[in-house]
Amino acid sequence: VINLNNGEQRWESYDQLVIATGALPIRPDVPGSDAAGIYALSNLESGIAVKEDVDRKKPQQAVIVGGGYIGIEMAEALVDRGMDVSVIEMAPEIMGTLDPDMAALLAKTVERHGVHLYREESFEKIETDNGAVRAVVTNKRTIPADIVIMAIGVRPDTELAREAEIPLGFKDAIIVNDRLQTKVANVWAAGDCVQSFHLVSRKPTYIALGTVANRQGRVIGANIGGDYAVFPGVMGTAICKIFDLEMGRTGLQEKEIRDLGLEFVSGTITSLTQAEYYPDAGKITVKLLAERKTGRLLGGQIVGERGSAKRIDTIAVALHAGVTVEEMINLDLSYAPPHSPVWDPVATAARKTASMI
Ligand SMILES: Cc1cc2nc3c(=O)[nH]c(=O)nc-3n(C[C@H](O)[C@H](O)[C@H](O)COP(=O)(O)OP(=O)(O)OC[C@H]3O[C@@H](n4cnc5c(N)ncnc54)[C@H](O)[C@@H]3O)c2cc1C
Repeated sequence: VINLNNGEQRWESYDQLVIATGALPIRPDVPGSDAAGIYALSNLESGIAVKEDVDRKKPQQAVIVGGGYIGIEMAEALVDRGMDVSVIEMAPEIMGTLDPDMAALLAKTVERHGVHLYREESFEKIETDNGAVRAVVTNKRTIPADIVIMAIGVRPDTELAREAEIPLGFKDAIIVNDRLQTKVANVWAAGDCVQSFHLVSRKPTYIALGTVANRQGRVIGANIGGDYAVFPGVMGTAICKIFDLEMGRTGLQEKEIRDLGLEFVSGTITSLTQAEYYPDAGKITVKLLAERKTGRLLGGQIVGERGSAKRIDTIAVALHAGVTVEEMINLDLSYAPPHSPVWDPVATAARKTASMI
């Protein structure tokens, strides 16, 4: 242990050790990347630093590198602060945890709110002026910038574990068993620094989410307290709000299913979040993916107006239970006009998907 305030070092002994060092934002090592005005969001302090910079310097032009959850949430926040915002995304579409057809619905909204989306474009370097950022250079253009947010993902912070020779796996995340024990006796690990087991692909994966970290923390606490608890695995269930839209996703997306060599069908429907005659009923699009041969649900995605995102939890429970899309049609889902059409949009999507088999 090093006391960062005074540099003092000491050894602390343990009976049981929990490693929960989290993740670090990926920061490309390119010219200008250490200039003032470049931020990466990773914790409360880094969020506060961006807010203080915006309050103090009143930047006009913001460039965000990466169009995932954090990049797009930051785009909305900076548009709200009156800035001209550009997002650079290497892939053909933003929000890579959705299939491109669903992500395109979000992209339309993001652009409608004035954000310049530069897709299929890669970040190359930062131009500086007196040590501060002046512009961002991509393979296609130079975009003037007063502030830059690097949001190209995170990697597990496992330097400590590596030094202690604790075996690492997928993307250098710590390998743990069902009880969240590492391969070293009396050392446990949880959260953004560990490798997870994907409940649908049945393969190792790395998914950094607060939901997972919380559940894993509970499991380790129970185990260290003398109980016997196991963490079954993850499905990448996540939600997010983007301007006036919400998104949710769980399970496998098309490219992951193809990589597994499975044949699949997909069904996409557009319905409403409330009964159609009810004031403020909003649009909701639901997509389900199922194995062609068995009808087994493999994943689901939702994009829609207020009240859409949390409906992904119905799909997550169905996925966790291993049901088929045919079985999903008759799930006993609720209805009242202020909350849903008679046919819940998830059940309507199940009907469409089942009809494709
Ligand atoms: C901007 C942003 C938005 C997010 N939004 C969501 C969301 O909406 N939903 C969701 O599910 N997840 C979200 N997440 C992810 C979520 O925050 C993380 O998955 C979660 O915090 C992981 O918890 P953790 O305890 O594993 O790691 P952390 O919360 O990162 O905690 C790790 C701690 O360990 C400390 N540490 C590291 N190394 C050492 C060391 N050597 N010695 C001492 N201390 C050390 C770090 O400083 C840090 O404080 C978001 C993340 C970010 C950055």
